[in-house]
Amino acid sequence: MVKLKTIDAKNFMTKTGLGHDFVCNPYGGCEHGCLYCYAQTMPSYLSRVDKWGTYVDIKKYPNYNIPRNTGSKSLIFSSMTDAYQPIEATIKNTQTILNNIFESNLQVSFLTKSALITRDINLFQQMKSVEIGFSIATNDYWASIFEPKASKPSERIEALKILHQTGIRTYVFISPIIPFVTNVFEIIDSVKPYVDYFMFDKLNLKDINNKKRIFQVIQHQLPNKYNEFVEIFETSKQDFYVNLKNEIESYIKKENLSVHYLY
Ligand code: SF4
Repeated sequence: MVKLKTIDAKNFMTKTGLGHDFVCNPYGGCEHGCLYCYAQTMPSYLSRVDKWGTYVDIKKYPNYNIPRNTGSKSLIFSSMTDAYQPIEATIKNTQTILNNIFESNLQVSFLTKSALITRDINLFQQMKSVEIGFSIATNDYWASIFEPKASKPSERIEALKILHQTGIRTYVFISPIIPFVTNVFEIIDSVKPYVDYFMFDKLNLKDINNKKRIFQVIQHQLPNKYNEFVEIFETSKQDFYVNLKNEIESYIKKENLSVHYLY
């Protein structure tokens, strides 16, 4: 059972430097509870005694005013939470925001691991500029370990298909690429008919607790690969990611794929 709390927030969108002009995090915390999530390492969450994934703060806003002179600036949902995590099905914080901004000139971008996003197709279709991306890093088996409460990757792909067929611009962010777990090329092949572009990123294990968690999983699940896995993250040897990047670049060229970011 997720612990819920309502908190007051000043603005629904705030300035960011994350490749977009503004960001909206309608919730604090994230029920998806991904083991590698960097948001759980942020100072505001580190002080929480509850385990990441077991609490969600629901943000209440005084209004949904778009800051003046914002025009067609870009807005990303979300950087520190998932706007379509399970609680959104009943709380509808994200949908309420959308109901207030769907007629604006904002260029709205979503990145989610939830098939629930298809619920709001009607709103997306009325927006001037919207794109929807899914993070996919594993198959269903591995996702049940690394992303326990998110929609299964197979469900995300189904949702992606629906959104793309409705004419909505879509992308897939293959991230985090987990050595010996993520099959980048299998993911590309399973989604390429339904995406406008791809992005790729490495697994970030700078946080000591995240590193501990992921190492434990690999030790348990892939004992034969454990030493090699540790070497990738404990030494400055980045051969694994360098070689993979070369392979991805060749594949992109061969398949003529559009890529907006490759680590
Ligand atoms: S879905 Fe995103 S924000 Fe939520 S736990 Fe996973 S990585 Fe973190």
